[in-house]
Amino acid sequence: MANEANSVAKDMVVSLAYKLIVDGEVLDEASDKDAILFIHGHRNIIPGLEKELIGMKIGETKSVKVAPKDGYGDKDQKAIEELALDEFPKNVKPKVGLELEMPGDDGHGSYARVVSVGEKSAQLDFNHPLAGKELNFEVKVVELRPATSEELSHGHVHGPGGHH
Ligand code: ZN
Repeated sequence: MANEANSVAKDMVVSLAYKLIVDGEVLDEASDKDAILFIHGHRNIIPGLEKELIGMKIGETKSVKVAPKDGYGDKDQKAIEELALDEFPKNVKPKVGLELEMPGDDGHGSYARVVSVGEKSAQLDFNHPLAGKELNFEVKVVELRPATSEELSHGHVHGPGGHH
């Protein structure tokens, strides 16, 4: 691998501090001390952000704008479904904004938000909450090191701050 050890490239473990701003609101942030760790080039983070980090050096900061298509996708109208009120789980009272996990056909639950409630039914939005949104990141590269061969074969980071 022809990695330059001092800048972000494929197969480097990146420690990244960031702030995620959507519609002018800070939704998520990680400081230098609790920076996220990921292996670059393995789709561990959203593609639109990953490609903008290439070549960044330790200590470097950057503002990155990510369009919906490179983030959580566009909003899919087909992912908004109507559900009869009596089909909701017994202990759930549907109201706008409520988030719940609905059992899926494949046995996995999927998260949905109630977007409207009528007399007999309610609309559930199964889109990711950030679908259709432009994402604004303020990022800083805190640390960098080449991934070990074991990490590369697992596709995730080991050691402090990573998986095991
Ligand atoms: Zn592992």
